[in-house]
Amino acid sequence: MPLANGRHFLAIPGPSVMPDEVLRAMHRPGANIYEGKLVEMTFAMLPDLAKVARTAGRPMIYIGNGHAAWEAALVNTLDPGETALVLESGRFAVTWGEMASALGVKVEVLNARPRRAVDPDAVEARLRADRNHEIKAILVVQIDTATGCWNDIAAIRRAIDAAGHPALFLVDCMASLGCVPYEMDAWGADVTIAGSQKGLMTPPGLGFVWAGEKAWAKTPTLTRGRSHWAWEKRAEPEFFYQLFHGTAPVQHLYALRAALDMILEEGLEAVWARHAALAAGVRAAVLRWGEGSPLELNMTEAAERSDAVTTVLTGSIDAKRLRTVAETNLNVTLGIGLGISETGAFRIGHMGHVNAPMVLGALGAVELALTHIGAPFAPGGVEAAIRAMAPGVA
Ligand SMILES: *Cc1c(COP(=O)(O)O)cnc(C)c1O
Repeated sequence: MPLANGRHFLAIPGPSVMPDEVLRAMHRPGANIYEGKLVEMTFAMLPDLAKVARTAGRPMIYIGNGHAAWEAALVNTLDPGETALVLESGRFAVTWGEMASALGVKVEVLNARPRRAVDPDAVEARLRADRNHEIKAILVVQIDTATGCWNDIAAIRRAIDAAGHPALFLVDCMASLGCVPYEMDAWGADVTIAGSQKGLMTPPGLGFVWAGEKAWAKTPTLTRGRSHWAWEKRAEPEFFYQLFHGTAPVQHLYALRAALDMILEEGLEAVWARHAALAAGVRAAVLRWGEGSPLELNMTEAAERSDAVTTVLTGSIDAKRLRTVAETNLNVTLGIGLGISETGAFRIGHMGHVNAPMVLGALGAVELALTHIGAPFAPGGVEAAIRAMAPGVA
């Protein structure tokens, strides 16, 4: 492994790279979890978390990963026996739907067209056909981390409205918050979920849920038992301990504070623009490599390719071997072909704490690994990426 020593490049779509500022913020002993600095810092941070999701609503913070946030969103909005419509665009919404099934919810999946995003017209048609409003909630992901798909949340909202359907709209922003534009209130999402370890640049272990008024109105009517995941006390705690339904995640909270400081200092719009410019570079590289070779972008429509993660199909090129060479010989960790193929796909994460040298470095390493394994590909991917990124430099 002659070229592996040196800095490790983590190019998977979560957990993402953590800034040194975030790591340093965690390096502290335990704190008073009843009063004082931690309590003040945390309450003051809640509005900043709301800013990131563009909502007036207060976030609930769970000690848990994205799956915990998924469950929190489901049990506070859906009773057993009620129906949820899952909008497929890859593994993630489907897995969320499987969780809903396990919680007793009847789940119907609206299948995606191959390698395409959710079709808002299909959503509208399905909802129009649901004359008795049996469907109580609609589940979708903004960016599906498996396929690299970017769903148009505003367009799906318009489809729901066009059908005049009252179902709650639940949006998974795990892989998109802090990466691409999201407007919870303006786009009429009723529930948003996210986690700490992707665009928010914080270690895995925090799950976030924001709920709008319509979702809150449903909660008191629920018959299912709820305790740890219940929203009520977390949103309106009489004392700090209730905010987390137990001990606060002290170090994670300081890490999150540092990460939010970085995001707000850069400016959310600037963060989105940085992701867009870097993602354009990644896509340009893949398109170049693919000239006369089996390499291609998984999503067939340009507008449906996400700015946070790119899924590459490799055809006859062994993606597993490519990833192994990248990791073992070059110290660059690429994402597995999750839910698609272990040997026929890989993913490049470009979310959170990433800049041009990091992305160009990862792309250069992919090109080097392709060369090393003797794969057929058109060279010049990094050069194409540079040209695509250039307008974003200023
Ligand atoms: C990562 C991810 C999840 C799951 O998060 P975990 O922290 O692994 O539980 C859910 N949805 C999307 C879109 C994700 O990218």
